[in-house]
Amino acid sequence: MADLPFHDRSDFDNAERGFVAKLSPAVVSAADGRVVWDGDSFGFLEGECPDTAHPSLWRQGQLCAKQGLYEVTDGIYQVRGLDLSNMTLVEGDTGVIVIDPLISTECAAAALRLYRDHRGERPVTAVIYTHCHGDHFGGVRGVTDGSVPILAPAGFMEHAVSENVYAGIAMTRRSVYMYGPALPRSAQGQIGAGLGLTTSTGTMSLLPPSKDITHTGQQETIDGVRMIFQLTPGTEAPAEMNFLFPDRRALCMAENATHNQHNILTLRGAQVRDTRIWARYLTETITLFAGQADVAFASHHWPTWGRESIVTFLSEQRDMYAYLHDQTLRLMNQGLTGGEIAEQMRMPPALEQVWHTHGYYGSVSHNVKAIYQRYLGWFDGNPAHLWEHPPLEQARRYVECMGGSHGAIAFARRFISDGDLRFAATILNHVVFADERDGEARRLLAEVYTRLGHGCENGTWRNFYLMAALELTGDVVPADLDATSPDMIGALTVEQIFDTLAIRLNGPEAWNDRFAIDWQLTDLGERHRTTLSNGALIQQADPPEQPVDLTLRLTKAQLLALLAGRGSDGIEHEGDMGVLRRLSELLDSPTPDFAISTP
Ligand SMILES: [Zn+2]
Repeated sequence: MADLPFHDRSDFDNAERGFVAKLSPAVVSAADGRVVWDGDSFGFLEGECPDTAHPSLWRQGQLCAKQGLYEVTDGIYQVRGLDLSNMTLVEGDTGVIVIDPLISTECAAAALRLYRDHRGERPVTAVIYTHCHGDHFGGVRGVTDGSVPILAPAGFMEHAVSENVYAGIAMTRRSVYMYGPALPRSAQGQIGAGLGLTTSTGTMSLLPPSKDITHTGQQETIDGVRMIFQLTPGTEAPAEMNFLFPDRRALCMAENATHNQHNILTLRGAQVRDTRIWARYLTETITLFAGQADVAFASHHWPTWGRESIVTFLSEQRDMYAYLHDQTLRLMNQGLTGGEIAEQMRMPPALEQVWHTHGYYGSVSHNVKAIYQRYLGWFDGNPAHLWEHPPLEQARRYVECMGGSHGAIAFARRFISDGDLRFAATILNHVVFADERDGEARRLLAEVYTRLGHGCENGTWRNFYLMAALELTGDVVPADLDATSPDMIGALTVEQIFDTLAIRLNGPEAWNDRFAIDWQLTDLGERHRTTLSNGALIQQADPPEQPVDLTLRLTKAQLLALLAGRGSDGIEHEGDMGVLRRLSELLDSPTPDFAISTP
């Protein structure tokens, strides 16, 4: 840690530059009084770094904890530190354009209020979503009712919805570990997620864009504000864009260049991102825009001022992703596996000497494994790993080999005293999986996880370890499933609706069922057929004329109500309603509180 560049205080200067006002107290509540954001609870970060935190992550937490309204440049403001993400406000001829209205409507409204208190009651004249992640659109109804233009990169709606729908339950449960909402906010507990402090817990909304940005070089003028866009699909998000305000000499970098090494694969789970394309687009950004900007800002963290500093910053971010990609592939082609490459990978010292390449959110370790996964998948080629026992069966056998749980725990203690917490965690995890009632193993594993967490430079790793420790010594912390907002469900396409149905179908239960249902969506003028055979629910749009067991004529709203178990009022049918009842019998309910750290 001695070689961390603590002498470089420019991030603190930049995070404080242009400060206008704080939200005081920094607490945002929902209509029912429930607190959905409490920035003040992170006030302890102002102190010196204790030995329960990595000094580098502590420093990042201090920077992320700075909250309030900041002037970025003439006519451009940011509200930072009132959610995981930033809201940017760009003043036009008659009002203000909002970029990325945070996660919750309550936080977005509070951010807009703070802005207006200091800049006047300017009406919102447009909204821009930089990309399709929930922390960049969820609060939109807090700033507009949808009567203004909403700009977004092409493909926004499809990805905004699909990323959260198919594997949504599993991701939501795992995100409890990633962000640690149940952890105490303290020097021993949650000190931020690296990308920001944590996620707000208010009302999520979604309004569809009214104008797509479809190509790089596209120009738009809204409320007298000129913008030039660069489309960057497949970088940090499948639909994302950077854009320049040429008349303000300001560059919005969306989430493509922030003050940390980003995730190539988020720990809550997602599809792997493409570091090669990411680096490629950053080169294009520098060529297109860097000479025309005196400030670059993003939807997380603080801006970078000065033309040279912007080029340096973007180049270092670019080199970091390119290096990770190319060196992982180089070592992969020498026969190293993901875990081996992760262990061996050293970033160039020049990059390690700048703070914004550090792994507060992504990490070299898990990003390298993600790149391996993107190209070669889960199997490392070694047949010993081709057909291993699942965790519980493996655990029983390992513990037996170590002389039962007593022997295994004795081994674990030895590795703890040798300082090898990683292997101690492996052994103790086997003991807990072999017998989850083993209180001594649980306590000891929780201690090991806590020490591992306290040593992490990465905020999400810390949260994962500390959440596991919390659940090992207490109860499972269920995910808040209300996060699936009515807007989000309403935004599903009919194809996506049937996809979600197929995902819930209990295959083995349905092995012997065969039937076909035609769904005529009267309001959309669409026809879809679902056919069940061999436990698979197959869907087809515009199916050929064929006899089916049941034809339903309904609206999309009625379809959603039907699937939510709210009855079939007003739905016209022809044929056997019994197959519809059978279909609903065959649907499984997901498990929002599945075990992670225990069998
Ligand atoms: Zn974000």
